[in-house]
Amino acid sequence: MNDFCKQYPDAQGNFGPYGGSLIPPGLQVEMDKITDAYYSISKSHQFIAELRNIRTHFQGRPTPVYFAKTLSDQCGGRIYLKREDLNHTGAHKLNHCMGEGLLAKYMGKKKLIAETGAGQHGVALATAAAYFGLECEIHMGEVDIAKQHPNVIRMKILGATVVPVSHGLKTLKEAVDSAFEAYLKDPVTSIYCIGSVVGPHPFPMMVRDFQRVVGVEAREQFVEMTGETPDNVVACVGGGSNAMGIFSSFIDEPGCSLYGVEPMGRGTKTGDHAATITYGKPGAIHGFKCYLLQDEKGEPSPVYSIASGLDYPGVGPEHSLLHDLKKVNYVSCSDEECIDAFYELSKKEGIIPALESAHALAYAIKLAKEKKRESILVNLSGRGDKDIDFVYEKYGAR
Ligand SMILES: *Cc1c(COP(=O)(O)O)cnc(C)c1O
Repeated sequence: MNDFCKQYPDAQGNFGPYGGSLIPPGLQVEMDKITDAYYSISKSHQFIAELRNIRTHFQGRPTPVYFAKTLSDQCGGRIYLKREDLNHTGAHKLNHCMGEGLLAKYMGKKKLIAETGAGQHGVALATAAAYFGLECEIHMGEVDIAKQHPNVIRMKILGATVVPVSHGLKTLKEAVDSAFEAYLKDPVTSIYCIGSVVGPHPFPMMVRDFQRVVGVEAREQFVEMTGETPDNVVACVGGGSNAMGIFSSFIDEPGCSLYGVEPMGRGTKTGDHAATITYGKPGAIHGFKCYLLQDEKGEPSPVYSIASGLDYPGVGPEHSLLHDLKKVNYVSCSDEECIDAFYELSKKEGIIPALESAHALAYAIKLAKEKKRESILVNLSGRGDKDIDFVYEKYGAR
């Protein structure tokens, strides 16, 4: 493993001043049990062999690295895509959900509990639950249930129970509270499964480690294709799991620049964005410390992005540290740039990207125009099928 990822977090889950575990003692006891189980079970030969088998035969890994020639010819640089859109269920999220599900099975759990915003994490977790024969309970705000109808149906078809959350703003934050409450009522037979490299220890570490497969594969494939490591690696950052997955193989790589792309939404003047590291300050949310978009009282601000998977006021603690240490450049793209990249990849390469992934791509296109002699590896975190109705209605076929 990369030295940086070996060094962090410490035994209490701290990534320098970030991370940790700011939760009630009752919940801490349960988190400690998950941490212990993670260290003892997930490093065993049997667990690793079973997860490898799942990745190959169920998920369809390794996903390819693809040289986007037409796009590259047009921009000047060389753009390569790590095709997580070809991972089963169409995004990288299944990588950590299968890991979390397998751990749950080894721990003798019967039920997986989680929240979901846009429904992507809910669908991936419901898929893992179906595979492992576990029950699955997904908490989701009523506003999101109305907005994300196809994902709600997917979860139900996969056998999950969708619990509507009707208090507060009825979106992601309330869904997290509701899922935690449900989990606390039954921590013996159930396990909480978070959707990104966020939350209290051990989740930021555990989710990163399950996502490392993306970076390990991509590095090997890239070297095999080109004979060298990439000059630049680009990934979008919501909570930061797909970015940590690919960055983990390139942090401190000589000559390799890393870029985490945050959603600038409608632009800074309106405040309608979710560019957490760009505009946030250190704070706390959902049981951990990180950069946070917050009001004067330290309460998380309302955030916005055209890509609902990037719509989170906090960010992973490891990204917060990587920013302070200047090991990763955190940059941003607007909705408009995201949409341009979405059509560009669809029409030039025949790949419809997720709006989240289109943020990374938009920045890569800018970079390619500036650094014409360099290679750029983009983590294409997911496919855009979930976004086509929305995009077509608003922007047409172009
Ligand atoms: C959820 C999601 C993201 C954002 O989550 P990260 O934890 O930041 O990776 C990015 N891309 C896709 C396709 C997603 O579904």
